[in-house]
Amino acid sequence: MRKQIVAGNWKMNKTAEEAVALTSEIVNMVADEVTGSVEVVLCVPFIYLPALQRYVGGRISVGAQNCHQKASGAYTGEISAPMLKSLSVPYVILGHSERRQYFGETDALLAEKVDIALANGLKPIFCCGESLEQRQNEDYLAIIRDQVTNSLFHLPAEQFGQVVIAYEPIWAIGTGLTASADQAQEVHAAIRSHIASKYGAEVADNTTIQYGGSVNAANAAELFACPDVDGGLVGGASLKSRDFVDIIKAIR
Ligand code: PGA
Repeated sequence: MRKQIVAGNWKMNKTAEEAVALTSEIVNMVADEVTGSVEVVLCVPFIYLPALQRYVGGRISVGAQNCHQKASGAYTGEISAPMLKSLSVPYVILGHSERRQYFGETDALLAEKVDIALANGLKPIFCCGESLEQRQNEDYLAIIRDQVTNSLFHLPAEQFGQVVIAYEPIWAIGTGLTASADQAQEVHAAIRSHIASKYGAEVADNTTIQYGGSVNAANAAELFACPDVDGGLVGGASLKSRDFVDIIKAIR
């Protein structure tokens, strides 16, 4: 049975004190319930990783939101995959639409980031998704398949098996507009069959595909009930312990 992962993407939010409070509240409220095939990952700002690692454990971990494509060197202000490895960070979000939009990250650059993450034992949470215009033009499935192909399909099957995919329609991120369960299921099934066409049904079946984009306590259960939706990547609603805990509980 493939993993169901609820990940929080804190983005550029929270002070050090708030970060500790939020993490410990979440852990206290759900630690006993995160069992079986369910995992919870809090993707926090880099600087809080070591401090917050003390508050998590078992099937709850802290992850990163990005890493550089090079292992080390003169890249002022950047964080590398080997640095994250040295802290035993298990997951790193790569290719979030905000990184693509504001930092010019391309499919080709993301293929490099995926490679260096995997080479350092980090599991990428690879984000893909279409803009509103692309959705309206109805070529969104082709666009999403291309994102997956261009950044991931160079991987051998064994490495691909370490990747988590997050489908995040850009029009649903931070807008309060959620994809309907039917819209999410359509894309998730298309991604899974695309993976099957490259790696076979077994690999496709084992790939965790999260939904992201205005997931909240009210809509999580319906989204997570879709057969091809394996948890969520949650932005805004991961910043409040009660909301995020309700979303985690919706997975069961
Ligand atoms: P949102 O963000 O839940 O606030 O829409 C999701 C994300 O950007 O990962």
